[in-house]
Amino acid sequence: MTIETDTTTAESVESFRDRARHWLKDNLEQAVPYSGLGVPDDEEWPRARELQRRLSDGGFAGICFPEAYGGQGLTPAHQRAFTEEALGYEMPLALNVPTLAICAAAVLDLGTEEQKRAHLTAVLRGDEVLVQFLSEPRGGSDLAGLTTRADRDGDEWVLNGSKIWSSGAYAADYGLCLARTNWDVPKHNGLTLFLVPVAAPGVTIQRIKQVTGSTEFCQEFFDDVRLPADAVLGEVGGGWAAASRLLQREREAMGGTSPFISGARPHLGGEISSLVELAQSTGRLDDPRAREEIGAARAMTVVRNQLIAHVSNAIGTGELPPAAGSIVRLFGAENSWTHADAVMAIAGSAAVTGDPDGPGTGQISIDYLFRNASSLGGGSTEMARNIISERVLGMPREFAADRDVPFNQVKHGR
Ligand SMILES: Cc1cc2nc3c(=O)[nH]c(=O)nc-3n(C[C@H](O)[C@H](O)[C@H](O)COP(=O)(O)OP(=O)(O)OC[C@H]3O[C@@H](n4cnc5c(N)ncnc54)[C@H](O)[C@@H]3O)c2cc1C
Repeated sequence: MTIETDTTTAESVESFRDRARHWLKDNLEQAVPYSGLGVPDDEEWPRARELQRRLSDGGFAGICFPEAYGGQGLTPAHQRAFTEEALGYEMPLALNVPTLAICAAAVLDLGTEEQKRAHLTAVLRGDEVLVQFLSEPRGGSDLAGLTTRADRDGDEWVLNGSKIWSSGAYAADYGLCLARTNWDVPKHNGLTLFLVPVAAPGVTIQRIKQVTGSTEFCQEFFDDVRLPADAVLGEVGGGWAAASRLLQREREAMGGTSPFISGARPHLGGEISSLVELAQSTGRLDDPRAREEIGAARAMTVVRNQLIAHVSNAIGTGELPPAAGSIVRLFGAENSWTHADAVMAIAGSAAVTGDPDGPGTGQISIDYLFRNASSLGGGSTEMARNIISERVLGMPREFAADRDVPFNQVKHGR
């Protein structure tokens, strides 16, 4: 979707930036320096909702969402300016992914007028959190092979099955859930996307504790959950097209090209200045090895930023297909690894022995434990390579025994 703005009446980016700078100073608090652990999961969400409400009251929520649904109807350049000005202030960052950049973006792309008015307005006011119910315990990469089912019963649908790795589901209002509604057709053709109220009778949510200590991931169990006909997002049986849209939004979010992300977390090691500060605080700024690490991380960041610009422009002009977003997604993961490794190498033993209240080094090992998440969240890097080879470079498609076979005839390892 192109973001259309009436450029004849839109406020200039510089005037908007100036207005944002003053508003932020008067209305938001300074962010607490990032320690690596962040705010405890349960406190983060109410606070994010409250901050989102403040942005909405101030006229800075949903900068690239249409005004008709509570947004500002402005351009990605306005959004970038706001994010730059907002660095250092406490922002509702928990709402960026997946609520705003993936789920709300998909509702904007696929929803009926009623769904857009109901959900986008609520999301932008901080009244609704949306999450994704896609991955299943049997595996997330073969998304079209999912087995959560929705059966029609009169005007309603009855949902049964289980989803997993849903970030933030325990704090959400709705999950965008892909389910099988037709078992007699090949796997991609029998799917439908639903907006499932998390509080509906029959939905059970269990939280999963990660090695980092976070309990943000959830598993959901659906037992005869009854959904109204208007819970369908997109077309009945058109779930694969809808999910592809959702996944494109996800790739944009993971690759750094989403226009709907507002604010940025000053991640320890994610920015070059923090690497320099880390080298300073651990007494290694003159160490040639540390300087090499900083240089390599810097080079990766420069390339990533130019790649984002190049690929976004090429997709915009049609020079590259939308699947090229996977190039940026793959490079984004490689960039995260480079930074995580650089932070660890520069911190050395301070990463595990450091004082959590000192230069933040005590939390580096916790961050490092989350390092590989960037190669799975938003679809794995292996799947990104598959997409690039097949849909960007035109190489032969990987063999699939279940291609064009009605799903009820496909053998499943149970
Ligand atoms: C931080 C984070 C947040 C997430 N948030 C959500 C969320 O909100 N909602 C949600 O639904 N899911 C979420 N996920 C789950 C994520 O989408 C899955 O982890 C991902 O799709 C991979 O699925 P899987 O973990 O089941 O691995 P599997 O699909 O079981 O794959 C295992 C390994 O095999 C490889 N593999 C599988 N098939 C192929 C193939 N054809 N070719 C080459 N290699 C292959 C994979 O790349 C992977 O390395 C999240 C994951 C992370 C890490």
